[in-house]
Amino acid sequence: MNSPSTNERNQQGEWRPAHPIVSAPITAWPPQPAKTLKWLFGWPGFLWPENIFWLAVSVCTWAFLTPELSTMKSFELWWVALLYVRNFIFITVLFGGMHYFLYMRKSQGDRLRFTTRPFPTNSKRFKFNNQVRDNMFHTLVFAVPVVTAYESITYWLFANNHIGFIDLTNPVAFWTWFVLLALLAPVVHAVHFYFGHRLLHVKFLYRRYHALHHANIQVGPWSGLSMHPVEHVIYFSTVVVQWLIALHPVNALYQLQLAAFMPAPGHSGYEKMNVCNGVDLAAGSYFHYQHHKYFECNYGGSLMPLDKWFGTFHDGTEEASTRLREQIRSRRQSNAETAD
Ligand SMILES: [Zn+2]
Ligand SMILES: [Zn+2]
Repeated sequence: MNSPSTNERNQQGEWRPAHPIVSAPITAWPPQPAKTLKWLFGWPGFLWPENIFWLAVSVCTWAFLTPELSTMKSFELWWVALLYVRNFIFITVLFGGMHYFLYMRKSQGDRLRFTTRPFPTNSKRFKFNNQVRDNMFHTLVFAVPVVTAYESITYWLFANNHIGFIDLTNPVAFWTWFVLLALLAPVVHAVHFYFGHRLLHVKFLYRRYHALHHANIQVGPWSGLSMHPVEHVIYFSTVVVQWLIALHPVNALYQLQLAAFMPAPGHSGYEKMNVCNGVDLAAGSYFHYQHHKYFECNYGGSLMPLDKWFGTFHDGTEEASTRLREQIRSRRQSNAETAD
């Protein structure tokens, strides 16, 4: 099979990046300070544009679209409903907006698209026999209520002083911790996602709760949160880490919004999205696309090298695919021999 370069596709209509996927340089050994600094503060990197943008969204959400904390001391329908409607709108605009521009308006055609295969519209694998409708159903009917439930419980816990007990009265200390926790949120997300995801690949849990997400072989924005409700509960439990360490509800909200919003770009099915004249922003995750394609690799993200450490890393090259197929074949063979 050919290995397509930036603009080429193989006979199956698949595209792959010209270079192998590399992990973020934060955990490189020996340390690479210059590379790490460039990655941390350069464009595009860890801070700019993605994480800072989502942090700004969380701060604005807290300031303008969330009821006063003092009014959330007991669970009442009005404020839970308000959070639900706000989350429903956010997710519909982001996931639906990306789907509209990439797949309905086809704003950049197939440029940097992982595969040209269309979303199935007549497949028994999906509710309504239609992948996009099935994905929208699981996102809007299950993901939005679960994320709203976690958010509501978080504010109730803060309002009643059950969490947020680290009282840093010195403003310098407070802001240092606040910023540090905000910087750590994507790392917390990556680590929690990796281990939660590995757990879901245990046979018993996979068949019942995770196979639904893997019905998406080719992915689009709506695939991101198309999960069984039990998987939603596990996936969004990342906010529990912030319950334990959070100084301020914004830290917890940011953690939750990262989990709620990142799956849209992460499953866009494109390497980059053209946002305005000639400006491409990282939109997709070829790293996670390999997981949807081969199932038994890349359980985490490319931020933390957990897949490298645990031997499940696929760098996107044809050589890595051949190696993985070989491993799977020999494992199946030895399982069959043991069963005999
Ligand atoms: Zn996925
Ligand atoms: Zn999986």
